[in-house]
Order: sequence, then structure tokens, then C-alpha cells
Amino acid sequence: MTASKAHIVVIGAGVVGLQTAVTFLEHGHAVTVIAKHVPGDKSSEYTSPWAGAQWRTHSTAKDFELQKWDIASYERWFQTVEQEKKEPGQPTKSGVAKFHNVMYWAEEDEELANGPENLWYAPHMRSFEVIPRSSLPKGAVAGVKYDSISIDTTVYLHHLVDRITELKGRIVKAELPTAGGIAGALAAATRLLPVYSINTPISAFVNSSGILAKDLVPDPAVHPIRGQTVLVRGVATQLRAIIRGKGVTYVIPRAASNSTILGGTKQVGDWNQNPDDTTTKWILESCRDVAPELLNEKGEFDVLSVNVGFRPGRTGGPRLEVEEIQTEAGKFVVCHEYGHAGAGYQLSFGSAEKTLGLLTEHFQRHATRAKL
Ligand SMILES: Cc1cc2nc3c(=O)[nH]c(=O)nc-3n(C[C@H](O)[C@H](O)[C@H](O)COP(=O)(O)OP(=O)(O)OC[C@H]3O[C@@H](n4cnc5c(N)ncnc54)[C@H](O)[C@@H]3O)c2cc1C
Repeated sequence: MTASKAHIVVIGAGVVGLQTAVTFLEHGHAVTVIAKHVPGDKSSEYTSPWAGAQWRTHSTAKDFELQKWDIASYERWFQTVEQEKKEPGQPTKSGVAKFHNVMYWAEEDEELANGPENLWYAPHMRSFEVIPRSSLPKGAVAGVKYDSISIDTTVYLHHLVDRITELKGRIVKAELPTAGGIAGALAAATRLLPVYSINTPISAFVNSSGILAKDLVPDPAVHPIRGQTVLVRGVATQLRAIIRGKGVTYVIPRAASNSTILGGTKQVGDWNQNPDDTTTKWILESCRDVAPELLNEKGEFDVLSVNVGFRPGRTGGPRLEVEEIQTEAGKFVVCHEYGHAGAGYQLSFGSAEKTLGLLTEHFQRHATRAKL
């Protein structure tokens, strides 16, 4: 890859791969996305459609790099809302909407170690306020409020596809084999593209294969963090969350499709694709008092669907790393970009910029070495 136009092949059309494709295209590079699943598909192997999704950081006070990525998306989404002059609860063309977020903790945890007023993100949030102890509901030990963002995943993913098309990127729906690891997959990609009349030499690959990186790389550090949620009718008036150690009760309005996601579980290592009835009951019961405006005249939620998704967890956090891989079709450069766990949407802009930076740096170093 040179400073001029490169041809980047992105493996994966989840929020991470699609945003990465957009970022490279916006920097003037050519991009082809190869993906087994694309927006519109529903599969337990494809996480992005199942996300809540909202901006609520998962970065700790020590995750300095991830904090920057979180703030990048917060700012970008607010810019979009402001450019399109949207009021709270009104979705933009890309399916993001600003909502007030009210968050409580049911028990003391590490995040609260320095008090809610000193949460790392407090200075970055619009309208941030600590809820006084005297105003906390029964059972809460702390609470904060701030303006945040909810994302209608279907609208958002299709919007990224439209942006790729607009910038003349290509998307090829195909599965790359995993039996030969990443080397086998890259070689297969080189054979596949000419079939679609894509003959531009490949400058580099980006591996945004999400949970399937476990088999594709293969990377044993990748594991599922199962999330069961319930989609109900009506748009909640606020984002809300109660953090309770292992489980989180959360309410994420989907302004673009008259619905709200109620959640949910975080079950590390659990591959069960089927909704569990006891969990569904627990979610509905724990959200009754949290989103009473969504209850119908019988005092019940109108359930539209019960969903299960697998967050692409990774021991050690997301992997962003450049590797040179020898394959039967030659040597290729790949930047791995997977393992964003429960934060792929909010990390997507920063992750894509980092990937662009890593590949640019790699090729600059290479060019300098070649000149010596
Ligand atoms: C219940 C739930 C709630 C969530 N809430 C939030 C939230 O509020 N905010 C937030 O930021 N995040 C949230 N997340 C997390 C977020 O959904 C994920 O981090 C994100 O979707 C991961 O995106 P990805 O692109 O890495 O993976 P995926 O969306 O899984 O995409 C992977 C892509 O790689 C392709 N692929 C893999 N292997 C191959 C192969 N061999 N050949 C070809 N293609 C291949 C797949 O087909 C797919 O296109 C939530 C997740 C869940 C489950």
C-alpha cells in the first residue's frame, strides 16, 4: 500500500468490517468486502444485527486507547444528529437517535471506585449529572444521567452498505474456507475475486470476521458472550440501564422502527442459540418498572421477538495487528481487526482509523526498507 490508491480486501460485513471499508474508501483507496453474511441476513454467526445498540462504554479507566475510540463514535453520532437537526428520539437517515440515558448501579463495582462523578467518561458526555443519593430508587447505590445515542442496527448496517456503494466499493457475498486457517482463506480470496471481474491486485487484507475469527485465524482467545434480548413494540422515552454485576437490565429505544430492545444477559462461553424461557421472563419482569410506558392495557409488553446474539469476546481485548502471511498464492499482508466484544458499534470508527494507520505505517516502513 502506498500513500496513493491501494486495493484493500475486507473480510466481514458486520459493523466493524463495513465501517473499515467506508474509512478506507473515504481515504481514496479501493475496497472489496468479502462476507459470508451481509446486512439483511440473520444468523447466530453474524453478531451485528443482534446488538442493542447504544453508546454505553465498556472501557475501563485504564483502557486509554479504547476510550479514544468510544469518544470518537460519541462525537461522530452527535455530529450526525446535529447536522440533520434531529430532536431527542428522532432518528437520522443512518438510524441513530439521541436519547437521555439514565443509569443506576445495584451494587458497588470497580467502575465506581472513585465515585460516579469521576467516571472516566463524565467530562466527555453531554448533560452529564450524578443523581444525588437522596433521589436514587430503592436498591440502587449510585446513578448518573447523560445524553447518549441509540442505534437501529438494521437501518445503520444498510446505511453503511449504501455508503460503500456510493464510494464505489464492492461487496461479494461468499464464504472463505476455514480449514486452511487464515492462509487458506486469503488464497481462496485471490481465486474468488476474478470470478467477479475484480482483477485489481490486492494490496492488503483486513480480517474483520467477528466471532468466526475463532475458526478462521484460528484464535482460541475468541469466545462468545451470549446476549439474550427481547424486542417489544413502542419506543421507550429514554435509554435506561441498571448494572447488576453479572446481568444488566437495559432499555434501548429504536426510534426508526417503533420498537425497543429489552435486555439482557452476558453469558461468557455460552453457545446456546435458542432463547431460554426463564431468561425471557426475567428480562420482561425486570424491565416492567424500568420502562412502564411500553406496557399495554393488560399491563404487559407486546413482544415482537426474542433474540440471541454472540458478542465476539476475546481474552486480552480486540486484536488489531498486522501480519505477513505466506499462502500458496503468495505472501499477503493482513491486518486483523476482531474481538470487539459488546462494543463493536461504539468502537467501530476508532478501530477503522487504527487499522488504516497500522497498514499505512506497515507499508511506509516497507517502502523505506526497500529503498535502503
Ligand atoms: C445482545 C447484544 C447487545 C449488544 N449491544 C451493543 C451496544 O449497545 N453497543 C455496541 O457498540 N455493541 C453492542 N454489541 C456488540 C456488537 O454487536 C459487536 O461487537 C459487533 O456486532 C461485532 O461486529 P463484527 O463486525 O466484529 O462481527 P459480525 O457482525 O459478526 O460480522 C462478522 C463478519 O465476518 C464474516 N465472516 C466471518 N468468517 C467469514 C468467512 N470465513 N468467510 C467470509 N466471511 C466471514 C461474517 O459473515 C460477517 O459478515 C451487542 C451485541 C449483542 C449480541
